[in-house]
Amino acid sequence: MTIGDIGEGATLARIFPLLPASRRTLLGPGDDCAVVTVPDGRVSVTTDLMIEGPDFRIGLSTGYDIGWKACATNLADIAAMGATPTSLVVGLAAPPSTTVAFLEDIARGFHDAATALAPGCGVVGGDLSTAPVVMLAVTALGEFDGTEPVTRSGATIGNRVAVAGSLGDAKRGLDILFDRAVAPDGTVDPVAVAEAWASHPTEVAAQLRPEPPIAAGRSAALAGATAMLDISDGLVLDARRIATASNVAIDFDLAAVGDIDSLTGGEDHAMLACFPVNATIPPEFRVIGRVAPGSGVMVDGVLFEGRGGWDPLADYSSASNQ
Ligand SMILES: [Mg+2]
Repeated sequence: MTIGDIGEGATLARIFPLLPASRRTLLGPGDDCAVVTVPDGRVSVTTDLMIEGPDFRIGLSTGYDIGWKACATNLADIAAMGATPTSLVVGLAAPPSTTVAFLEDIARGFHDAATALAPGCGVVGGDLSTAPVVMLAVTALGEFDGTEPVTRSGATIGNRVAVAGSLGDAKRGLDILFDRAVAPDGTVDPVAVAEAWASHPTEVAAQLRPEPPIAAGRSAALAGATAMLDISDGLVLDARRIATASNVAIDFDLAAVGDIDSLTGGEDHAMLACFPVNATIPPEFRVIGRVAPGSGVMVDGVLFEGRGGWDPLADYSSASNQ
């Protein structure tokens, strides 16, 4: 049974009951808008697109994986501001030939990611349409509960730089999947995908079903973090964003970071935060460097010259042209 067979209303009726509920909902799906409460008067808002092709491949990712990742990456952006995720709005477009079961699988992935990573956060609304490929546009809302937003511009010289969550596993997982399961013509071998899951569960899960440390973002804000973001494109590339916004340099200790994959691999959605030297750093974080005078990102005191991560426009364009 496809979504084209049963139409929008019946498809939505199948999906809504599977989605997680938000504890801040005054009025949920069914009207022209949802209505949510904001206890302290400030809302953090972020949005993220996931497009079949540049962002995922059906076959490598199940519907469940796609829903999980779309949810988790948006939760990570809310957490990276020191906020707590409360509500999600989901726009989804898919070819009419898409099975209803596939969309239900996406909804279950959404449900399980929200429940596992940000209990109480849920889907308050969305829209459904058709497109040549599967596309998700997720908007997440969060609340600050009395603390100030943690931006990228507050790092000061002498701060310790710390990370919560894994570094490099998502890139290793992507490399394993592409090496073993994607043919040169782009076709996916489902047996090889299953074997990759079995042999490298940590790395493959980090890529397809990431578990960003959402609560750590809030812990960092409460501990007085001066700057923070989630590592979506690579440790070096994202750290440079803090360095530029804060007009400082960030110097990583390579032994503490790990290896080159950990320096440049994207999509881990770990939290990278700067803390004053006298702060009590939350236990989820480990110190991997310091904020120094100057500009850019250094590794063991030497300026890192390369881009240091993934650019979704430039890199996908060059990969597609190979
Ligand atoms: Mg981010």
